[in-house]
Amino acid sequence: MAASIPQTDAEWRARLGPFAFEVLRRQGTERAFTGVYWNHFQPGLYRCAGCETALFRSESKFDHGCGWPAFQEALTADTVTFVADDSYGMRRIEVRCRTCDSHLGHVFDDGPPPLRTRFCINSVCLTFVPDSPG
Ligand code: FE
Repeated sequence: MAASIPQTDAEWRARLGPFAFEVLRRQGTERAFTGVYWNHFQPGLYRCAGCETALFRSESKFDHGCGWPAFQEALTADTVTFVADDSYGMRRIEVRCRTCDSHLGHVFDDGPPPLRTRFCINSVCLTFVPDSPG
């Protein structure tokens, strides 16, 4: 189901466009409350904007009020990878798509119980696919 994975920055830039390239391939962050999914709660599936791999379900999405999409968990334990990120003087855990290694956002431990995890994900890294009616 996943799309082919670009091999070079030029191919990635052509696929994503300049803004998404900056976030997915250069660990950028969209400004809070500017993405299309921070306040989006329809039932459906969120796929990777880089490779179309299914990443998150709407059931795990919650409103954290922070201006980015927040999820309790990824679709499966193998969906994403975690990378220590010490940029900007903070110790954070970066979240990447396991399939295409694109940056998605960060994971924090201040989410709701019982999991307490909060995946803070850039909207621009996601493509929403609504559930089919019926
Ligand atoms: Fe991906």
